[in-house]
Amino acid sequence: MTPLEILRQRTRRLTDHDTDDGADYVLCWLMQALRAEENPTLDAAIALGNTLDKPVVVLHAIENRYPYASHRLHRFILEASQELEAGVDGRGLRFARWVRREGESEVDLVARLAARAAAVVVDDVPTFVTREYADGLAERLDRAVLAVDACCAVPMRAFDRHLGSTKAFRSAHTPLRDVHLAADLRQDPAVSRYDGDLALDSEEILDLDGTGLDDLIAECGVDLSVPPPDGWHGGRSAALSRLGHAVDEVLERYKWTRNNPAADGSARISPWMHFGVLSPREVARASLDAEAAGDLHPAARYKFLDELLTWREFYHHQCLWMDGWSRFDGLPSKAKQTLRAHADDERPTLYSLDELAHGETDDKTWNAAQKQFAIDGWMNNNLRMYWVAQILQWRPTPEDAFATACYLNDRFSLDGRDASTYGGVRSGFGESRPWTERPVYGTVAGKTSAALMKRDGVPAWIDEQAAREVPTRAAIAEDPPPEFDRYR
Ligand SMILES: Cc1cc2nc3c(=O)[nH]c(=O)nc-3n(C[C@H](O)[C@H](O)[C@H](O)COP(=O)(O)OP(=O)(O)OC[C@H]3O[C@@H](n4cnc5c(N)ncnc54)[C@H](O)[C@@H]3O)c2cc1C
Repeated sequence: MTPLEILRQRTRRLTDHDTDDGADYVLCWLMQALRAEENPTLDAAIALGNTLDKPVVVLHAIENRYPYASHRLHRFILEASQELEAGVDGRGLRFARWVRREGESEVDLVARLAARAAAVVVDDVPTFVTREYADGLAERLDRAVLAVDACCAVPMRAFDRHLGSTKAFRSAHTPLRDVHLAADLRQDPAVSRYDGDLALDSEEILDLDGTGLDDLIAECGVDLSVPPPDGWHGGRSAALSRLGHAVDEVLERYKWTRNNPAADGSARISPWMHFGVLSPREVARASLDAEAAGDLHPAARYKFLDELLTWREFYHHQCLWMDGWSRFDGLPSKAKQTLRAHADDERPTLYSLDELAHGETDDKTWNAAQKQFAIDGWMNNNLRMYWVAQILQWRPTPEDAFATACYLNDRFSLDGRDASTYGGVRSGFGESRPWTERPVYGTVAGKTSAALMKRDGVPAWIDEQAAREVPTRAAIAEDPPPEFDRYR
């Protein structure tokens, strides 16, 4: 396949309208693919601009009313945006940034800029507000709106049907990887940069050392009770540096250390993957290059790519094809039946959302896990499996427990609100194979901390983490909060 054919395969029309050939530019609205390189959304916009003889204007708009908009998420996004601007500029394209404080919504703004666009190109993400915003824009416009898949290495639409199991997905996905990982999709603009009026004063972020960002965020009216964690910077250079460390130091032992939360045992790149600062193609290629250079054993590379390409992309595939991927109602019928059959079972201990959010249960391991989310904005995969399994017994109903898990993951984790969030949570609510029937859980498998505790350094790490104070308490006005409606 040629690069243009691959870009076409990644693209779908959100409207039946034609391009407006009298317009000034092609508008590329980046919502969640916040990178200037290795970005099929941007490359598809450039290819379209070249065909129509129009320059591309790249817009990064930062809404302040998306669910869970917080200091933590806003800061990560704005840091990513700073380097996105430099990168887009380096590719010879006009960049515009808009940061909402009040007034028109993000979709209103894009609709306004689209009035002078031949077409709008957006990123195609199957979950959360990115999908809602793109669909909302398409309903309002009388011109072409194209959605481009920049979030998976093998385009989600390479499959025209639902592959219900990981096994079926892995066998269909694997043969397609070589061509999609090898292709160079980069397009260069053949049209000079657009320097005309945009009906938008691009917001400048001048203060790169950070205080200016915090002042700007304070003006946005987002939730300041969830602060940015130490150790995570949203910019692409921080992402590439962490990826380099992972490839050089971590992947060789990944297969054996990834389940150890006390070790530097996994890549720790999911926040940048979620916000599209890193592309799955470049991450996969970095591990294949290390293997080709003799620096990575094929078995170590296999396990890493199986998580990155099979599990992550399977969850995107599921999210695309299944109704209710992020809702309790969308769980497999057997899981819902068994959980509902045990809904009235006695639950000896119930915790409030406030106690859970701040890691204040009688379970030290769980508290250590939740403090990762509350303070650090990220949690190890194996720990998440233990964390999610406990929540069922601590909330009044299975529906509420499901919503609690999604809420805690989405609000506190930098990588939350992702297809993998709900894939992970579903695994704790009966997506996987049934177990022996017992109270509250029915046939849904539980998880003990026994295996975790046997790993190197974990007991001491749990003691240390569980004893940490959450420095800023997250504001929780209602229990259950209105956000739970997203997950029912
Ligand atoms: C209850 C629960 C909730 C989860 N919530 C999220 C979430 O909100 N966002 C999220 O990105 N992942 C989530 N996961 C999957 C997984 O825990 C994280 O992707 C992983 O811990 C990220 O750490 P890492 O970057 O070090 O991953 P690594 O193990 O180094 O893997 C590299 C990349 O591959 C992908 N990946 C790895 N493991 C998985 C997996 N099991 N499922 C899907 N993708 C995977 C991620 O993009 C990850 O960054 C969840 C898992 C569970 C059990």
